[in-house]
Amino acid sequence: MPETDSKRNFITEIIDEHKQTDRFQGQVHTRFPPEPNGYLHIGHAKSICLNFGLAQQYGGLCNLRFDDTNPATEEQEYIDAIIDDVRWLGYDWGDRLFFASDYFDQLYDMALELIRIGRAYVDQLSPEEIRAYRGTLTAPGIASPWRDRPVAENLALFEKMRAGGFQEGEAVLRAKIDMSSGNINLRDPVMYRILDTPHPRTGDAWRIYPMYDFAHGQSDSIEGITHSICTLEYEDHRPLYDWYLDNIEIPHPQQIEFARLNLSHTVLSKRKLIRLVQEGYVRGWDDPRLPTIAGLRRRGYTPEAIREFCDEIGVGKVKGVVALHKLEYHIRHDLNKRANRVMAVLNPLRVVIENYPEDLVEELDAINNPEDASAGTRKVPFSKVLYIEREDFMEDPPRKFFRLAPGREVRLRYAYFITCREIIKGAKGEVIELRCIYDPETRGGSAPDGRRPKATLHWVSAAHALEAQARLYDTLFTVENPDADRDQDFTAFINPHSLQVVDPALVEPSLATAQPGDRFQFERLAYFVVDADSTGERLVFNRIVTLRDQWKKQQKKKPRRRKQRRAKRAQS
Ligand code: ATP
Ligand code: MG
Repeated sequence: MPETDSKRNFITEIIDEHKQTDRFQGQVHTRFPPEPNGYLHIGHAKSICLNFGLAQQYGGLCNLRFDDTNPATEEQEYIDAIIDDVRWLGYDWGDRLFFASDYFDQLYDMALELIRIGRAYVDQLSPEEIRAYRGTLTAPGIASPWRDRPVAENLALFEKMRAGGFQEGEAVLRAKIDMSSGNINLRDPVMYRILDTPHPRTGDAWRIYPMYDFAHGQSDSIEGITHSICTLEYEDHRPLYDWYLDNIEIPHPQQIEFARLNLSHTVLSKRKLIRLVQEGYVRGWDDPRLPTIAGLRRRGYTPEAIREFCDEIGVGKVKGVVALHKLEYHIRHDLNKRANRVMAVLNPLRVVIENYPEDLVEELDAINNPEDASAGTRKVPFSKVLYIEREDFMEDPPRKFFRLAPGREVRLRYAYFITCREIIKGAKGEVIELRCIYDPETRGGSAPDGRRPKATLHWVSAAHALEAQARLYDTLFTVENPDADRDQDFTAFINPHSLQVVDPALVEPSLATAQPGDRFQFERLAYFVVDADSTGERLVFNRIVTLRDQWKKQQKKKPRRRKQRRAKRAQS
């Protein structure tokens, strides 16, 4: 896809039209408005890339604003984590880090203004009554008996709410709009409620807190936002967004809604992610199996891969689920260019090279990255006793198995050709060692007579390999959409095999200096990143992603075989 295409979408069309009609004097000023009630996930990344991306594209600005209007669920830990995550993704808000709570005074004044012009009132119905009076999609609402109180009484009661003269739930401030509106959001929505909870930033200064709908548009307006981009659930709130701004008579940003990202085999809702963390299904917010930004980072994802993914999926108005392999494609693509190759064996089978000198150790040259000549080469020690991957040997191989088998010659990467001469078995008949011979003429991986084995295997030298731990991750859920089942909680679909720990895994000695966050391709296996759990004694590796798309392979297997058969038949 040409780059220009991914940068054109229905939102850029709206912005272009605004530019042509000179709305907002040609400016583009967006914001990313997280509520600090959890960690950010890949869905938020889409919103971040969109908001900061549009600002970059149009030479405008993007603010980071915390929508911190509900102290009951918000925490400083989340604020700090969100700041880290947005920065890690590669975006910069300059000096424009804001908090809706910075505007509590101004919002309060705006509420007073709406009371004064007769468009807001203090309601003393109970929360249950308010819900019941609101009506349904088919039945209009019923006006509260308090709806037509005089302005002076409303002003006094609102002040009483602020000063602590009511308990939680005893009084709210409501906008006076239309109790029979077809849009339930316009049936006198609550603007302020009493919450007896200290706020992470304003402490005990307030006992009343603005609702999201009242705070959001006004915060946008205060910051000079031009395009207020949100997800489709807020489409029905737009008339309310507009109503507040028009009635308070302050500059009016344009709200634009797009379809939120849903990703297969996971959940993207903070409420559900919190449960996974708190109920111990994962090890924390940065568990590499979670779709949180912190989890993806620990998993070894790069910001570039996440941004490319967000670019590719684009923005639209149609709800859908993006397949996880699309995200995996981008990290694979990115790491193929930048990750150094190393050799590691996860499931070791001992190989003794019978004709190799007992004490000889050769330091062989290995290429760090065939995609990047500047990555250079390194030395890998070769000696008489090696380990190869158990899956690379079969005693009685089927026709299409080209790797090591009795009597067969294969190439050891960067080293020699070896031929298997003998199998040593344990008491239960299991293969515990292979006796092989090597051809000294094939050093470096080619034979003077030009013969070429059908397989090249990775290996490590037994005496030199480091013991490490490898954490192999699979999807956290066994089904594409864990939310889809009406009768079962999403936790019923948790994959019991989402983490497989391999310990010890054997890795080549060059990894001794690897640092947390370093990414490698374990040749023929997968991409791995060094985890922060690593100690001086033992490196811990997280599997980022396998080398090939395993799902695609599964899905395509059958049709391809049929096609091949058909092609063969056609030839004969
Ligand atoms: P959640 O449903 O996970 O709790 P939220 O919408 O309540 O998400 P906010 O912190 O309010 O979380 O979201 C900040 C911004 O990110 C909002 O503009 C919201 O629309 C956007 N956003 C949240 N989830 C997604 C998603 N899955 N795809 C795209 N944008 C999203
Ligand atoms: Mg929200």
